[in-house]
Amino acid sequence: MFNEKIVQSLSKSSMIRAMFEEGARLKKIHGEENVYDFSLGNPEVEPPKEVIDTLKKYVNSDETDLHKYMNNAGFPDVREKVATYMTKKSGVDISAENIIMVCGAAAGLNVVLKSLLNPGEEVIVLAPYFVEYLSYIDNASGKPVIVNTRKDTFEIDTAAVESAITKNTKAIILNSPNNPTGVIYSRENLEELREVLEKKENELGTNIFVISDEPYTSLVYDGEEVPEMLSIFEKSIVINSFSKSHALPGERIGYICASSRIPQVDTLMSVMTTLNRTLGFVNAPSLFQKVVADNLEVAVDIESYKKKRDLLYNHLTKIGFSIVKPQGTFYLFMKTPIEDDKEFCKVAAKYNILLVPGSGFGCPGYVRIAYCTDIGMIERSLQAFTKLAGEFDLLV
Ligand code: PLP
Repeated sequence: MFNEKIVQSLSKSSMIRAMFEEGARLKKIHGEENVYDFSLGNPEVEPPKEVIDTLKKYVNSDETDLHKYMNNAGFPDVREKVATYMTKKSGVDISAENIIMVCGAAAGLNVVLKSLLNPGEEVIVLAPYFVEYLSYIDNASGKPVIVNTRKDTFEIDTAAVESAITKNTKAIILNSPNNPTGVIYSRENLEELREVLEKKENELGTNIFVISDEPYTSLVYDGEEVPEMLSIFEKSIVINSFSKSHALPGERIGYICASSRIPQVDTLMSVMTTLNRTLGFVNAPSLFQKVVADNLEVAVDIESYKKKRDLLYNHLTKIGFSIVKPQGTFYLFMKTPIEDDKEFCKVAAKYNILLVPGSGFGCPGYVRIAYCTDIGMIERSLQAFTKLAGEFDLLV
């Protein structure tokens, strides 16, 4: 009676959601204080003060035309500010015409994928991945091709990407800093990827776009460099969001920035603007377009996230767990001491620790720990992690 494919997918519903529901159950039994819920990437911090002050300013202002329909790509002054910011950041000349304001990265990805893909065309997705990519590719009638990253570092396995490229490959999605690993792809690794993409494009006579999903570029520790995709890849489309950098996930605001170096970029911009309308987004929320445009250089307090990362990473590795140290985001991706990551999550839940199995990210044998939570909860959880480690004789 309804969409068969979606009805069937409900039975395999998101592991993240399942853990969230398990958390609610455990909290009822053991009390809020005694459950250590690391399942959701929903920032615990409030937006920076500057963001709230700017919002108040616009809410109280007498400025007219703040709440009307507008060009589907967004307010011209907002797009201009984002373009100036992206030019400064990337060193690539970006104009307002290269920017579309969107309802968060989720909307941006849907608009970009549907703009690029003809039915059946392939998109390379690097595992572990943000699971929604698969649905977004399906929404655009495309076909995901999963390529594993290197297990020792989670960097891109460029040889594996090369083998996966066919004449139907239209794009590759990159997400650095990465959810769930926290890894930032190095410049060297990305340049290697560029060589592979160019080689295959020449060989096959095709165009392969780099879709760079970048909600975490402001959440970076120890002054690590996040290489600018626009400067590395000619055919790159950056999608940014203020959900994590400004702790505004409920407000649904972000932007698409297509490189001015893409051949026929004007047509691409028209296609994307049209799709922003016809996919039903119409335009990004008007008030929040104005708010973020005045706060492009602002971000949440990264030091508080770093403190949480260090606390968890240092403790977990000390008690014998194996983790590639995350350079950004608010996630740790920990190797499970047994092969079955879902079973490991069940054992962890016995100690009231809620984790998401790596299988949910296309990478069994790991779990994701989202530490965008209260630091008190993290401190209280350490003892429970030690008990969990005790079940597996990790230090022997
Ligand atoms: N991409 C990645 C890698 C994410 O982790 C998320 C959200 O968690 C999104 C996209 C979607 O973000 P938004 O809230 O901007 O739609």
